[in-house]
Amino acid sequence: MTSSLASVSYIGATILFILSLGGLANPETARRGNAFGMIGMTLAVLATVFGPRVTSAGVGWIVGALVVGGGIGLFAAKKVQMTQMPELVALMHSLVGLAACLVGFASYVDTSTVFGTEAERAIHEVEIYVGILIGAVTFSGSLVAFGKLSGKIGGKPLLLPARHLLNLAGLLLVIWFGRQFLHAPDIQAGLTPLLIMTVIALLFGAHLVMAIGGADMPVVVSMLNSYSGWAAAATGFMLGNDLLIVIGALVGSSGAILSYIMCRAMNRNFLSVIAGGFGGGAPAAKASGTGAAEPAGEVTAIGATETAELLRDAKSVVIVPGYGMAVAQAQHVVFEITRLLRDQGVAVRFGIHPVAGRMPGHMNVLLAEAKVPYDIVLEMDEINEDLPRTDVIMVIGANDIVNPAAQDDPTSPIAGMPVLEVWKARTSIVMKRSMASGYAGVDNPLFYKDNNRMLFGDARKMLEEVLTALRA
Ligand code: NDP
Repeated sequence: MTSSLASVSYIGATILFILSLGGLANPETARRGNAFGMIGMTLAVLATVFGPRVTSAGVGWIVGALVVGGGIGLFAAKKVQMTQMPELVALMHSLVGLAACLVGFASYVDTSTVFGTEAERAIHEVEIYVGILIGAVTFSGSLVAFGKLSGKIGGKPLLLPARHLLNLAGLLLVIWFGRQFLHAPDIQAGLTPLLIMTVIALLFGAHLVMAIGGADMPVVVSMLNSYSGWAAAATGFMLGNDLLIVIGALVGSSGAILSYIMCRAMNRNFLSVIAGGFGGGAPAAKASGTGAAEPAGEVTAIGATETAELLRDAKSVVIVPGYGMAVAQAQHVVFEITRLLRDQGVAVRFGIHPVAGRMPGHMNVLLAEAKVPYDIVLEMDEINEDLPRTDVIMVIGANDIVNPAAQDDPTSPIAGMPVLEVWKARTSIVMKRSMASGYAGVDNPLFYKDNNRMLFGDARKMLEEVLTALRA
């Protein structure tokens, strides 16, 4: 492939990636967005592999690596459950960081590159240093995020004393070793400061994510997404690959915008996320998702038949799905119930919290899969003020996102997080298997309110029973 054809392909791929991001911004166009992304990536890979910078001997190696990597990716994607997607994404981010580190070290020890001037060499070394720095932070931070999302590491924030001072000391050391690295007389001498900086960056990345409290993980996930983009861009600079720089910048900036949106949704400060360590300072949260909360009153249980009666008698119903709906894979039966109620003249809508589930847009993806019409799926801000005028709210496997303690208890780990105010409806019904807490590990006073009913059991099983009762 000639270099001009490769350049044209790169421009085509860039346009396709921008169209892809545009498409992914809306559930209705998301499939098209995915298709643009896939075509763009195929074009990018072909133009790189058969482009002027890869020798014919190199093609064999690249194709071999593609087959191995693609095979592992295909296996993982087929095997992974929908509820494990966030962990998989975190793991993928860590690989981008690892790749940036490996490319950085490889470019540094590669003696074949000829530099025209000393300034060119210095610029290349700065690219290597910064690339490895971002890559190492992304790598270790994403690995810890993987551990936290999969429950292998507890959700409680690790708040070391003087943690901000530690971070500052790390930053100063990185700058100092950067100076040593740039002034190193030869590659051998430069490797020591480079390795020390890598270790500091790895520790910083792990510390950054360890310091984040359970319910604040969504912001970290999107922030690591952004870091992985910048790591890819840095790799692009090291390899002199314009397309990788552009794609990295697209991922980095869209991830940063998503982090900002998430911060606003969670009422958190963007800068404190970047510095690490928020969501703490409150009473100890239980290990995420596992601990049963201490009972704080009497709850009123309800059966599937009574639930069906309440729904049938209602004029307006709002359904609030959460992580449990994803675990139970209850979205299809939710849709059946919605269709039946709407046919009977009940106004049914969905209220979606920005951090419901375990990844941004998790609930929207599930509802779209079940073919729930988009026009009845509303964001939290759009539906919250209608909730006091709602007859019945059905909370399906959600917990933290409907917890009134976020508003009422300033000492709660989720204090200040905006929530769906379901307790303001005439009746709320919470569907879950037990009294266990949600991801943030905190008790939920909603369960004990007079107008709340608990429908205990697996969400799918219970909803199937409700559907049967509605049809009877
Ligand atoms: P939660 O984790 O707060 O609660 C989910 C509830 O679902 C649990 O209390 C559980 O109770 C119930 N559940 C689990 N399985 C089933 C089942 N089969 N049938 C019925 N119920 C079930 O989820 P939310 O969606 O309310 O909140 C999301 C939380 O995740 C927030 O804290 C958010 O910060 C965090 N998070 C979100 C991310 C994102 O990007 N969206 C990323 C990382 C974290 P029980 O065991 O009793 O059934």
